[in-house]
Amino acid sequence: MPSSPTDQDFYSRVLIAEDDLTSRRLLHTLLMKWGFDVVVASDGREAWEILQGDDPPRLVILDWMMPEKDGLEICRALREHSNEDEPYSYVIMLTTKASIDEIVMGMEAGADDYITKPFSPHELRVRLRAGMRIIELQSRLIAAREAMRFEATHDFLTRVWNRLAIFEILQNELGRFQREGRPFSIILADLDHFKKVNDTYGHPVGDEVLRESIRRIKGSLRSYDSIGRYGGEEFLIVLPETDEKEIIGIAERLRTALSGRPIHILGNDIHLTMSLGVVTVHSQSGLDQLITEADSALYSAKHSGRDRAEFMVLQCGSAHQAWRMQQ
Ligand SMILES: [Mg+2]
Repeated sequence: MPSSPTDQDFYSRVLIAEDDLTSRRLLHTLLMKWGFDVVVASDGREAWEILQGDDPPRLVILDWMMPEKDGLEICRALREHSNEDEPYSYVIMLTTKASIDEIVMGMEAGADDYITKPFSPHELRVRLRAGMRIIELQSRLIAAREAMRFEATHDFLTRVWNRLAIFEILQNELGRFQREGRPFSIILADLDHFKKVNDTYGHPVGDEVLRESIRRIKGSLRSYDSIGRYGGEEFLIVLPETDEKEIIGIAERLRTALSGRPIHILGNDIHLTMSLGVVTVHSQSGLDQLITEADSALYSAKHSGRDRAEFMVLQCGSAHQAWRMQQ
């Protein structure tokens, strides 16, 4: 029944919520025989606690009449709390209430299917299969959407944030600065003479050099810093709550992460350096202004001989060149 062994746990766990002992035992026995992994609740409150817990079963057989919380309440609460990012819970209402009005009421409360007691085991089994198909389909949709979301926000080659996403992160940081007033920094980092790498070793090696450079840069950043690809071999780094004193050490760590040892690829030792334009923000500014200042700091680092960082402190709307750090 499950589509593959790895999906088995996810798709074959079933919650039976049933207060009647005989009925519960019968369901339990049948479902075990059919290979389901069964979780049992003997009243509505217990069922609700299981459904609110970590990784609950996604298939639910729910009795309508139960003490503490009835099946209808559970169904409504389940739909009210549902979130489109979470796997779907497929609910089969199992009850003696068999009138058309009651079936409509059950379905309107959010049940996906409805079986009246006494039930035919064969019918229950095929309806469970239908539920498994829905759950599987929905979980595939979530996975596909997550993959698309990742692709839309990440750079294809280096897998760091893409330009749009890192700009959004920077915009959020500017918003945070406005609210909290704590300084933060950005770095525009550019690999020196990268074109030479592509020209000498070819693009596949160039791509691998880019990826390795990113690994080293990321290894020198803190977990809450963000890095995105700004252009070909240019990266924008956003460093929250980082002032002009703290950023010196970080910039130096980044610079030496690359220049400290060659990148070894396909028998070649490639020596690479990078130039950094660093801006620390102390006053309200716009995204464009920030990028312009970082760009001009980077330009200055390049023209002073590369493999170095140039620092700016942005205060009262104007940039003050603070100092230059050389190799
Ligand atoms: Mg009951």
